[in-house]
Amino acid sequence: MSMSISKRLTGIAWASLLTVVAVSAAAVVWRSLVVPALVVDTIASALTLALTTGRLKALREQAFVHEHESLHDPVTELPNRTLFHQQACQALSAARRREATCAVMLLDLDRFKEINDTLGHHEGDLLLHQVAARLRGALRAGDLCARLGGDEFAVLAVDVDSEEDAFLLAQRLRRELARSIDLAGISLETEASIGLSLSPEQGTDVEQLLRQADVAMYGAKRQHLGVDLYSEAADEGARARLELLSQLRAAIAEGQLVVHYQPKVAAQSGLVRGFEALVRWEHPTRGLLYPDQFVGLAENTGLMRLLTSHVLDLALRQCRAWRDAGHGSLTVAVNISTRNLLDGALPGEVARRLEAHSLPASALELEITETTLMVDPIRAKAVLSELAQLGVGIAIDDFGTGYTSLSWLCELPVTTLKIDKSFVMRMTDRSEDAAIVRSSVQLAGNLGLSVVAEGVEDSDAWHGLAELGCDYLQGYYFSRPQPAAAIETWLAQQRERDPELGPIARAAA
Ligand SMILES: [Mg+2]
Repeated sequence: MSMSISKRLTGIAWASLLTVVAVSAAAVVWRSLVVPALVVDTIASALTLALTTGRLKALREQAFVHEHESLHDPVTELPNRTLFHQQACQALSAARRREATCAVMLLDLDRFKEINDTLGHHEGDLLLHQVAARLRGALRAGDLCARLGGDEFAVLAVDVDSEEDAFLLAQRLRRELARSIDLAGISLETEASIGLSLSPEQGTDVEQLLRQADVAMYGAKRQHLGVDLYSEAADEGARARLELLSQLRAAIAEGQLVVHYQPKVAAQSGLVRGFEALVRWEHPTRGLLYPDQFVGLAENTGLMRLLTSHVLDLALRQCRAWRDAGHGSLTVAVNISTRNLLDGALPGEVARRLEAHSLPASALELEITETTLMVDPIRAKAVLSELAQLGVGIAIDDFGTGYTSLSWLCELPVTTLKIDKSFVMRMTDRSEDAAIVRSSVQLAGNLGLSVVAEGVEDSDAWHGLAELGCDYLQGYYFSRPQPAAAIETWLAQQRERDPELGPIARAAA
């Protein structure tokens, strides 16, 4: 019994000893595993924290860059429209509390597209950058300046004393820009048109003030004023122009656009040789509208192609009708705009329309002004060359009023010079104008071009121009531009006269 008790006690002792050993071993293992794990964990936490902090910092920096980029123009580093709106709202409400006047200005560079197209976008961007720097330099502390897009900049001038003060500041900005800027080795003088709108007199809402300044800027540009202040009358004019533009597409589709024709006569005989097609809009409520009232509006839209196609079609159809009626090989001249001239599809369209009306290319002359040519001379030359290859005549319209270099003129496939009517009309009174007409006729002769004088209003001018060697004449003395039906009557009268009897008598009546 005692033996068995003693064995049991020994067993317990061994079990206890083993338990202690096991627990101690477990503690050692625990210590060897858990303690380093804690250390690793702490290090990991510290690392994670460091990484997270770095990441957050990078994210914060990224967000800042994104925000900056979303609120600034990348070319000039100026605020963009969104930021200008925010800053101007704050500045205007602060000014209202001070009862101060502010001026919102909208500034648009004249001829920027020309510079961009001629020198390239890189140079265009450099110019914008320099313009921005000059604007910033000319503004006062507290004034805001932003680039709204393209060549359009906005300025908010705070605390202007008066309307006159705002004008003076705008003039200063224009003068700053007018100082020549060196670009690709070319010295450029940048002209700008500025529209002004005053707050609170003319409004307190930024977008409204900007819109008003835009209306004023458009007026300044159109009338070559440099700077103009918004007025309700100008706004009505702008509204009316926009309304016209919105009606133009339907007007073309509905046949409200018609063509009037002005005869072009041979200078020696006075016999009609062709007509210039001049577009008119028979507006249902405004009466007869002339090209200067709507063509300019279409020029900056896709409507220009539609408008020219329409006129081209009507003119060629009429030319076909004259030829079918036995009026000989009368020609027709159609005026084309800058947009048309830069349209690579124009030669193809001209060819198709000539074919559709069974007319030879020699029946058509296209009239282009010098200004039109100079917008993108390289592209213009390519399109003109294609047209000339068809056999279409190319006339330089309003010759003498633009800046075409003579060497450039020689490189173009031009067939005719049309001397601007302003010189012709003044040539009997002013020797300078007579000299311009005489030189133009000589130049045309030396270059092998035919020459048309426009604006012939009396028989003295006719005979003078015939003596100088002009080939063709156009003007009220022979006939005003008239609708096709009236031209039919005019042509019938012409046919009654015997060409053998010499120059026709006055036909304007
Ligand atoms: Mg013309």
